[in-house]
Amino acid sequence: MLRDNQGYALSDGPSAPAAPASQPAPLVQPWPTAGAIGAEERGLLQSGDGIYVVDAHGRQLIDGPAGMWCVNVGHRNAALADAMRDQAMALSYNSPWYTTSQPSDALAEALAARAPGDLNHVFFTTGGSSAVETALRLMQFANNVRGRTEKKLMVSRQGGYHGSTYLAASLNGRPRDQDWMDGAGSLVRKLTSPDPFRRPAGMSMAAFEDFLVEEFRALIAAEGADRIGAFVAEPIQASGGVIVPPEGYLKRMRALCAENDILFIADEVVTAFGRLGSIFASQDVFGVEPDMITFAKGVTSGYFPLGGVMVSARFFEVLRQSNHPDAMFAHGLTYSSHPIGCAVALKNLELLEGGILDHVNAVSDHFQQSLKRLEALPLVGEVRGKGLMACVECVADRVSNNPLTLDLEVGKRIDAHCHELGLLVRPLINMCVMSPPLTITREQIDEMADILYRGIAMTMDDLV
Ligand code: PLP
Repeated sequence: MLRDNQGYALSDGPSAPAAPASQPAPLVQPWPTAGAIGAEERGLLQSGDGIYVVDAHGRQLIDGPAGMWCVNVGHRNAALADAMRDQAMALSYNSPWYTTSQPSDALAEALAARAPGDLNHVFFTTGGSSAVETALRLMQFANNVRGRTEKKLMVSRQGGYHGSTYLAASLNGRPRDQDWMDGAGSLVRKLTSPDPFRRPAGMSMAAFEDFLVEEFRALIAAEGADRIGAFVAEPIQASGGVIVPPEGYLKRMRALCAENDILFIADEVVTAFGRLGSIFASQDVFGVEPDMITFAKGVTSGYFPLGGVMVSARFFEVLRQSNHPDAMFAHGLTYSSHPIGCAVALKNLELLEGGILDHVNAVSDHFQQSLKRLEALPLVGEVRGKGLMACVECVADRVSNNPLTLDLEVGKRIDAHCHELGLLVRPLINMCVMSPPLTITREQIDEMADILYRGIAMTMDDLV
C-alpha cells in the first residue's frame, strides 16, 4: 500500500506494487519519525501536467500545494524545459569562485531591478534554507567587521519556518520543530505569532497588533538593541498555517528595526514569484522595504534548486567603508549562481510577467471566496489566506475554537479522502494548506474547493 509522509494510506488500488515490509526502500525522505526512518514508503507520482499530477495508479490529482508551494507556472512547462536543456548544452556549470555566467549576471540584474528600494545585490544559493543561512551569516559577518561583536541575537516568531540548516532551523517556531533537534537556541529569541485567529479571546485586532509590536519593543529594551542583529519574518507565515498578520503589523515591526539598527530580513521563500501576485511581496503587498529578502522555490517554479538573498546597497557600502577591507566572508556554495538554475529562473520570470501575475491578481478573490465556503462545515474553524495561498483550520468546536487532539489525525484523514476524490492536499496537523500552481483557472478552483468540501464532510462522518 502506498503511504504518505506521515504513514497514511494514499491509495490501495489493485495495481499498487506490493512493497515487501522486510525490504524498506533505500531512499530516506525528509521529516521522518525515528520509528520509521529509512523504512517508510511515500506515494509515488509518475508525471505532471499543468495543475495536475498523476500517481502510481494513473489517477490524475489536482496538485493543491503546487509541490511545496513551488510549481508556480505548473508542471510540464515546455519553455522551462527548453531553457534548462539549452543552457546545459551551452554551459552546464561554471565555478562561482573564479567566474560568472551570462544567465547569472542577467538574473541578478533582473532581480535587482524588481526588488524594492536599494536591494540591488543578490547572493544566489541552492534553496531557501541556504538563503536564510546566508542572510544570517551576512549579519554576523557585518557585525564582526564593524566591531559590534555582541550584536548577534536573531529574533523570529512562533509559527515561523525558515529551513533545515543549523542557523535557519534554529529560528523555526512551529510545534515539534525543536522537540528533538539541537540548534543555536541561545542566539535566538522568539516572539508571538501574529495569528489573528489565535489572539486572546475578546481582544480587538488593533489591540492585538499593539500587543505584538509592544512585545518586540519590550524584548529590545530587555536585551539591548546593541545585542540584536536581525529580525527574520515571513510576510505571511506559510507552513505555520498561512498566518496573515494584522494590517499594520509588518510596517510597525520594520520601523522598530530601523529605529534600533536591527536588520529586517523578509523571508519570501514562499511569498515571492507570484504567489501574492507580485515578484516580491514585501513592498508591493505589505508596503515594507526590508534590508534583505530571501527567496527560493517559485524563482524557478521548482524546476531547478535555486534560492538567494537580495541585499541592500547600503549594507555592502558600510562593509566597503569599514576598517577591515581584508576581512573575508568565508561563505559560498559550489552551486551558487548555477547557470542552469539562473537560465530557468530568467525564463520563469518572463512567464510570470507575461501574464501569470495578472492572472493571479484576477483570480485571487475567487480562490479565497471559493474556499471560504468551507466555513459552513462545523469542523472548520477558519479559512484564511491571501493571493493564491490559503489554509483551512479545523477545530474541536466552533465556540472555543480549541485545536483538535492530534490522535484524531484530521489533516491526514482529509488528505486521504481528497486523494480518492482527485486532490492532493498538504495536511499540517489539523490544517490543510492550499497553494496550487498559479495557472489554475476559476473552474479548476471551484473543482478543488468542491473536492475539499467533500473530503472534510467525509472526515466529519468518520469522526461521529
Ligand atoms: N523559508 C520558508 C518561508 C519556507 O517555507 C521554506 C521551505 O518550505 C524555507 C525557508 C526552506 O527552504 P528549502 O526547503 O528550499 O531549503
